[in-house]
Amino acid sequence: MDNAQRKMQFLFALRSKGVTDKRVLSAMEKIDRGHFVRGTFESRTYDDTPLPIACGQTISQPSVVGLMTQALKVEPRNKVLEIGTGSGYQAAILSQLARRVYTVDRFKRLVVHANRVFQALDLSNITAFTADGSHGLPEQAPFDRILVTAAAEDPPGPLLAQLKIGGIMVLPVGQEQTVQSLIKVTRLENGFDYDEIRPVRFVPLLEGLGKE
Ligand code: SAH
Repeated sequence: MDNAQRKMQFLFALRSKGVTDKRVLSAMEKIDRGHFVRGTFESRTYDDTPLPIACGQTISQPSVVGLMTQALKVEPRNKVLEIGTGSGYQAAILSQLARRVYTVDRFKRLVVHANRVFQALDLSNITAFTADGSHGLPEQAPFDRILVTAAAEDPPGPLLAQLKIGGIMVLPVGQEQTVQSLIKVTRLENGFDYDEIRPVRFVPLLEGLGKE
């Protein structure tokens, strides 16, 4: 199979797993996952599977990236916060759909690397920081959309507080080593609405900065 065929199969797999939103599919067609996968795992770039990246973390499974992005219902004027930059792949997809993307990771090394890829691809509406995302990003709050790509036991309070009214947050909740639930939280005028999307498995949301 050549690269073009692999990419076709990649998009086909997304559709067959329920990623049907046209804007999400075209963002995923445009942003090549190959820019975010390195070394030994390059040959598996277009497989629908999570892959190891630096610092013991993972780039998420493409269909899960697609389903999370779809559930977030990003609109072109939105300011989006992502917690868990990792490889930068998810942020790059979001950058195609939103006006502005802020992304944070607790590992400086991952942020430095992701920033290089964003620059090379000319994705100038993404700003990546090294920070503990469980506190959100108060300087830039509030956000129209928040996407968390690491699992917490419950939705972190500061993130709920930094969501605009009418805003949406998508995140995995549950304990490490168990099946977690991907949930969608919508902020209403007076409270929050919670929807369960599907079972997922993510690395944990940890407190404090990483050592690398
Ligand atoms: N969205 C990424 C995948 C992220 S894996 C991608 O597209 O490649 C989850 C990431 O969350 C890891 O890089 C991990 O370091 C980060 N993380 C975990 N806890 C965090 C926290 N409290 N604040 C910021 N990042 C965190």
